[in-house]
Amino acid sequence: MELHKTQQLQIYNSLSKKKETFTPIHEGAIGMYVCGPTVYSNVHLGNCRTFLSFDLVFRYLKHLGFKVRYVRNITDAGHLENDADSGEDRIAKKARIEEIEPMEVVQRYTIDFHNTMAKFNALPPSIEPTATGHIIEQIGIIEEILKKGFAYERNGSVYFDVLKFNESHQYGKLSGRNLEDMIANSRELEGQSDKKNPQDFALWKRAEPQHIMRWTSPWSDGFPGWHLECTAMSTKYLGEQFDIHGGGMDLKFPHHECEIAQSEAFCSKTPVNYWMHANMLTLNGQKMAKSTGNNILPNEIFSGENTVLAKPFSPTVTKFFMYQAHYRSILDFSSDALEAAEKGYNRLMDAINQLDKLPTGNETTMDIAAWKQSCYDAMNDDFNSPILIAQLFEAAKFINSVKDAKASITAEDLATLKTTLHAFVFDVLGLQEVAAGSQNTGKLSGAVELLIQLRNEARANKDFATSDKIRDELATIGIQLKDGKDGTTFSL
Ligand code: AMP
Ligand code: ZN
Repeated sequence: MELHKTQQLQIYNSLSKKKETFTPIHEGAIGMYVCGPTVYSNVHLGNCRTFLSFDLVFRYLKHLGFKVRYVRNITDAGHLENDADSGEDRIAKKARIEEIEPMEVVQRYTIDFHNTMAKFNALPPSIEPTATGHIIEQIGIIEEILKKGFAYERNGSVYFDVLKFNESHQYGKLSGRNLEDMIANSRELEGQSDKKNPQDFALWKRAEPQHIMRWTSPWSDGFPGWHLECTAMSTKYLGEQFDIHGGGMDLKFPHHECEIAQSEAFCSKTPVNYWMHANMLTLNGQKMAKSTGNNILPNEIFSGENTVLAKPFSPTVTKFFMYQAHYRSILDFSSDALEAAEKGYNRLMDAINQLDKLPTGNETTMDIAAWKQSCYDAMNDDFNSPILIAQLFEAAKFINSVKDAKASITAEDLATLKTTLHAFVFDVLGLQEVAAGSQNTGKLSGAVELLIQLRNEARANKDFATSDKIRDELATIGIQLKDGKDGTTFSL
């Protein structure tokens, strides 16, 4: 029997703002859509946190035995600067600056995204559609919304009529915004826009002559509005109504609010049953973002080439650090937090590596069945990975006690303990089975730190021949030492 028949999953729904018992539209099968990256630069660790949060959701749903169709798009057109309805397309801007084709930009950063997700051992989605591959579908939806009277055309552009929509629907229900307040707090200079109201948003934009990413439409040569692609692709692959829609918290408004409005105008149905929003990763207390430069790239963490961390950390430790916080909590990135995560990860892997060597006895001094259910309870409670990890540490403690003959376990319970630990650590959390490799990274760090200490002693004794030798020999094997005001760090 599939696990989902015995395990009751609760999901926090951003729409109702409470935890709800999860019931899929079709028994045993789930449709899930997650907004993917805009591929105009390398994904930073903040982006990765959101995608890894949904990788955890995807993995757990699959573990429960659901058949999941997971659609995550690639935004390769229509996303303008400042998430606005006017300005330059982010991808076209990068192409202009680098003097390459927009599709070269798309190709380069899609590959980077895939490589990064693979390093984190994230599963690929079931379908990964692109905005440019669905222009026809987007035009079809605009025609329908125009027909229903919820949009209007001005000078070759088509806008969604938010005020008209709000007469019969509720615009703002996801983000908790009230249209009257939005109107009272907005101002748009006369004559600067074709919109009837500043709250209206673009479904189609006529392209200015210099705008190179353009397609033919009944209204003009132009391009689709950013929100429309997700409505087009989710409807096409998951239907007019589907189970789960996810994205980062910052997409709630306007992006997801507009998606709801478009779908309700287009097919008179509420598109999504459970809206899930992942919270932000911060650096120095501020949101990690491409635009502000306050970010760190995954490869900078793995190589150690950055100004934040004292040493490199592996993808699996970085992911473990992220899963030690619940996906709806803000998480701050720091060297100390990663050091602590690495210690915890190694402790867990050490325990798992003990499993095959543990002696078994006639009785078990821990309630293994209750412990196993507590792992499920944690994940059933809105994918609470930090509580799950706390349970995994409980098991690690018990394993060490058995090893030290302070506790005992039967062969049968040991088998259950092993399969459960493996399922949660490797299948659900998706941590990599490079336990030895990761521990070697920890040991390597210890060895390099010892050499740094010896070099410091040599320098203090004015023995520069020795200190230079240590630095140069390390460099020849690919370990760079960096002297800074806070001491010496290294990168691989
Ligand atoms: P973008 O490529 O800008 O469209 O963003 C891709 C995804 O990353 C979206 O779901 C964003 O909400 C998410 N995101 C952006 N910045 C952060 C951050 N600092 N922490 C977590 N998620 C983020
Ligand atoms: Zn989207």
